[in-house]
Amino acid sequence: MSKNYNVAQRFMRYVQIDTTADPQSSTFPSSAKQRDLSEMLYQELLQLGLQDVELDEWSYVFATIPSNVAHPLPTICFCSHMDTAPDCSGTDVKPLLHTNYTGAPIVLPDDPSQVLRTEDHPYLLQKIGDDLITASGLTLLGADDKAGVAIIMELAAYLMAHPEVKHGPIRILFTPDEEVGRGVEQLDMQKLNAHFGYTLDGGPLGDIEDETFSADAATLVFHGVSAHPGYAKGKMINAIKLASEFVASLPKDSWSPETTEKREGFVHPTSIEGGLEKAVVQLIVRDHDTSLLQTYAERLKALAENTISAHPGARYELHVQEQYRNMKEILKEVPFVAAYAEQAMLNAGLTPKRAIIRGGTDGSRLSFMGLPCPNIFTGEMAIHSKLEYVSVQDMEKAIDTLVELVQIWEKHPWTQA
Ligand SMILES: [Zn+2]
Repeated sequence: MSKNYNVAQRFMRYVQIDTTADPQSSTFPSSAKQRDLSEMLYQELLQLGLQDVELDEWSYVFATIPSNVAHPLPTICFCSHMDTAPDCSGTDVKPLLHTNYTGAPIVLPDDPSQVLRTEDHPYLLQKIGDDLITASGLTLLGADDKAGVAIIMELAAYLMAHPEVKHGPIRILFTPDEEVGRGVEQLDMQKLNAHFGYTLDGGPLGDIEDETFSADAATLVFHGVSAHPGYAKGKMINAIKLASEFVASLPKDSWSPETTEKREGFVHPTSIEGGLEKAVVQLIVRDHDTSLLQTYAERLKALAENTISAHPGARYELHVQEQYRNMKEILKEVPFVAAYAEQAMLNAGLTPKRAIIRGGTDGSRLSFMGLPCPNIFTGEMAIHSKLEYVSVQDMEKAIDTLVELVQIWEKHPWTQA
């Protein structure tokens, strides 16, 4: 049921705009160049004839596809992020379209050491016959999340041209700075004014993710005792050594990113810095079960106690800060939001698959800000790397899914609480 989408050309246009986020910056957005894409999308939404098109001072882009039925319906938001990950260059991205992929290795021409192979990327085996888009070897592609942006823009173009597809009010939202964890920092929820949402930022065809990590940041500060190194016997306690002993005491076969998968949680030291008197260890703490985060903090505390107990006079402080929470806690109260997306995939001829994210999304925060917001596939794969790729057919299937999804919402009567 090909609907004649133009999503590949649209996507290739967007990825050429450099929108790399900057984790060191305290401005919003973190890099001014993200606004280049905001402005392009703003103009294109106006040209497509959407309503309430707005580019605000923070570079959020909003637009409305008005309801085309008479009965009251909830406002559904589709959201993607415009920035790309700082892990890999996003400057001068050259998108390459490989039509009718055969399964043979794809050598990226600007750096022939970058080769996309089915052995390393088994999902490719399911994409034989598809049209793939890659970068040229020197940069990431930016399918994360310009695939989502292109899918939502193409949906808007399709719905504006096909009034026979009945739907309620639809809000479109494009955010900056998701990759540096600040995507919704300045978002005006009043202005967004939607009831339920979906981020388009998932991977494999048919995936719907309604569960993320719950996340805390932990800071352990070790205080030593300083003395002149020449006259330090029995007096000096070196905080660098306290911090090192603590890190060395973390389990080596469990409770870390490198030893866990699926639903297993972990703690992960992300930085260690300091000197003789004071050393600071930063950690991230992750689990799908929020109640376990407290247990993890207690376990960190016990390890820190154990470290200083061997050094009378040493001290430590533990500070824990909430980062985000598992969206499932919100989505389980409104199970129809993810269920409608599954039904939409079935209607589009796909096999839906519930998946969990070992991380967070804009949707984790949006869910707790009043917009229950699971995540739908886009086809973006090998993200944050030079081998990033996306299947054009996966993006088309995501648009098909959204066309079905808005019609499912239209069929369900709504009385606002
Ligand atoms: Zn993303």
